[in-house]
Amino acid sequence: MKITENTQNKTDIASYDYSELKTYMDALGQPGYRTQQLYQWMHQKLAAEFDEMSNLPKALREQLSRQCRLSGISPVRVQVSELDGTAKYLFKLHDGNLIESVLMHYRHGSSVCVSSQAGCRMGCAFCASTLDGCVRSLSPSEMLGQVYNIQKLSGCRVSHVVVMGSGEPLDNYDNLLRFLRMLSDENGLNISMRNITVSTCGIVPKILSLADEKLPITLAVSLHAPNDEIRKTLMPVARKYPLAELLEACRTYLKKTNRRITFEYSLVKGVNDAPSCARELSGLLKGMNCHVNLIPVNPIKERNFRQSGQREVLEFKNMLEKYGINATIRREMGRDIQGACGQLRKSCMDNE
Ligand code: SF4
Repeated sequence: MKITENTQNKTDIASYDYSELKTYMDALGQPGYRTQQLYQWMHQKLAAEFDEMSNLPKALREQLSRQCRLSGISPVRVQVSELDGTAKYLFKLHDGNLIESVLMHYRHGSSVCVSSQAGCRMGCAFCASTLDGCVRSLSPSEMLGQVYNIQKLSGCRVSHVVVMGSGEPLDNYDNLLRFLRMLSDENGLNISMRNITVSTCGIVPKILSLADEKLPITLAVSLHAPNDEIRKTLMPVARKYPLAELLEACRTYLKKTNRRITFEYSLVKGVNDAPSCARELSGLLKGMNCHVNLIPVNPIKERNFRQSGQREVLEFKNMLEKYGINATIRREMGRDIQGACGQLRKSCMDNE
């Protein structure tokens, strides 16, 4: 991997995977066991400073602090829901960009929703993250840093990770793969890939590349419409990759990974929530090993979409099930803290 440098010309050492770190330490003339010590300090003990790394010699700690950047992100603000304890974190990156992440508590454990880019260029019509475009993609250490900071700040052990925050993860493909591998490294937090979900708006060639990696993660594909006509009004990516092509890529993904796919479907009142849409969607997904996650859309003030009513949502789910498609309704988390992704970042940027 090319050495990444930040604005202060320091090496982004926390983005190195284990073997790259070994190469770096070899070049510094360090014995082999130091790689494991340093890697564990960064990715398991979550040290914020090189100075905390008590079993490394002082001279090495000083050399590393001169040459390397350890933490590329720092917390700016936290909002905690009084309803369910969901917490939204706003982080500042080393270059001043803002990103947000969310901690959610479930019966099965604590889950962090990670951003993969500052902003997003995909332009989905119901999403606040894309309103100012994409500023840049995040490095592996910036994605890992969200999980690490939240684990430390909240005191909760993070057991699940969803890459569903701001940004299109497959638009930051190489860094995403590195992030997934480092997150599940036994010398790091060792979070099982089975507990990691990556969400995409449907970038077909990258879904096919990911299929070849055969990772045991869950892939969540945002459909949000049962046909290209409606989908194009909600998601510009649909103009490039029509549904037929997208679903073909999903079938290939299923065949290669043997992992059930989740389809995300945000219900927007009067746009995609009619019974005829449920019927059409069932026809598309028939026979696939998949699951549909229905999400009452989160209204954002910049756009005119309204959430479907409870009755419509339930009818939509029942209709899918009637046609043999597994479906659940996503529980709304942190309703009192502006749950929709990108809203906290956007309101902070607008007020600066
Ligand atoms: S929904 Fe996801 S892919 Fe679409 S604009 Fe928002 S962050 Fe980007």
